[in-house]
Amino acid sequence: MSSYPDDEFGLITRYFGNVGGSDEPLSDSPVISLGIGDDCAILRTPPGYEMCLSIDTLVSGVHFPETITPYNLGYRCLAVSLSDLAAMGAQPVAFTLALTLPDNNGEWLDAFSRGLSKLASEHCIRLVGGDTTKGPLTISVQVHGIVPEGQAIKRSGARPGDLICVSGALGDAGAALKYLHLESDIDTVSGNIRRFLSRYFSPQPRIELGCVLRGLATAAIDISDGLLADLNHILTSSGVGALLHEDKIPCSSELISECGSRSLSLALTAGDDYELCFCLPGSVYEHLRAEPWFASVSVIGVVSNESGIRIERKDGDKCVLSPDGYKHF
Ligand code: ADP
Ligand code: MG
Repeated sequence: MSSYPDDEFGLITRYFGNVGGSDEPLSDSPVISLGIGDDCAILRTPPGYEMCLSIDTLVSGVHFPETITPYNLGYRCLAVSLSDLAAMGAQPVAFTLALTLPDNNGEWLDAFSRGLSKLASEHCIRLVGGDTTKGPLTISVQVHGIVPEGQAIKRSGARPGDLICVSGALGDAGAALKYLHLESDIDTVSGNIRRFLSRYFSPQPRIELGCVLRGLATAAIDISDGLLADLNHILTSSGVGALLHEDKIPCSSELISECGSRSLSLALTAGDDYELCFCLPGSVYEHLRAEPWFASVSVIGVVSNESGIRIERKDGDKCVLSPDGYKHF
């Protein structure tokens, strides 16, 4: 059976000793010079690069349902942190994990670590350290990414005239909220609900897109709290406003067929989609629009001098939007 001792370090070695590990020895990594097992991990920043760090804490019952399966929890807690690196145009290299657990449940830890490993392996990043304590279930993941010096995409660079873009479709994860209890029955629900649940439980951090946007996007953010709330952070940091076009806000056919007229408000205000919202100068857009990967990007509006967010409705009417919804003139 297990060759690991049943103490705390045995638990760490067993479940977290090789998360995201590949066959390559750690000593071959250009970035990681020391992983789990000492008081600190040691990372190198390759010449000409800077390190980007971000940490997110997820509390049971607050940031995820208490009923969540440990596999999905492992996947999701890394995904939401990686999404912050995507927004900055950083390439993930390693991560650390602070885990507060109510008990030492081997089955739970095994599934959690498999979920974590799945996404870590997809992005070729290793778990290099962390902390394990006893208490109400709480998980913090800190991700480490690298970016060529001076090329991280910040929130503050949007300029009037830039086009406002989003990746993918918005609102699906928000539509999942009333179905979260069906997580374990995902094979029995309709295709629409399955899509919503998978968007909520397994968000895809847009790392590749973020890296492509370096040197092109003037500002970017990941959509965790809702398009309006997150776009508003770019606008405030950049000292500008936005005019959006209602008919350009991307909603999936599944969202429209399931939620009808509620789709737009979900796409504008619901969070958890982890798509990117970014700004491009017009000349850059002209250059990129024919690229195959740009097919999944929607241009939803333009950055303006006038502060706040306005939206042009399908009938040509313009409304002012508050971060939580419509507010007519
Ligand atoms: P210390 O008491 O010196 O802080 P710990 O006993 O907490 O060390 O951890 C021992 C080693 O295990 C360290 O290298 C630490 O980074 C790692 N570690 C602890 N918990 C985790 C975890 N949940 N995931 C990954 N590594 C962990
Ligand atoms: Mg120590």
